[in-house]
Amino acid sequence: MPRPALRSRSLKRIKVRTPSGETVIHYERRKHFIPRCARCGSILSGVPRDPVDLRRLPKSMKRPERIFGGVLCHKCVEEILKSYIRSMVSQ
Ligand SMILES: [Zn+2]
Repeated sequence: MPRPALRSRSLKRIKVRTPSGETVIHYERRKHFIPRCARCGSILSGVPRDPVDLRRLPKSMKRPERIFGGVLCHKCVEEILKSYIRSMVSQ
């Protein structure tokens, strides 16, 4: 039985074959989730990548404080707002 800290499923288990032929389990941290734009898929800036930061930081530092901040990138928000406002004006 591994020590209590290694029993957590938040650690990835990787089977490694050692030179003696024995298979041992290595425990590694899982990859961080990279926040991406929901429309174009580009990486969002201003959003921390480390999940520890998402717990530790104040809310105003977890995502940009504009409309759709932390969901859409600035370019997509600009395009959507422009097209929406222009469709309002033309009516
Ligand atoms: Zn985008």
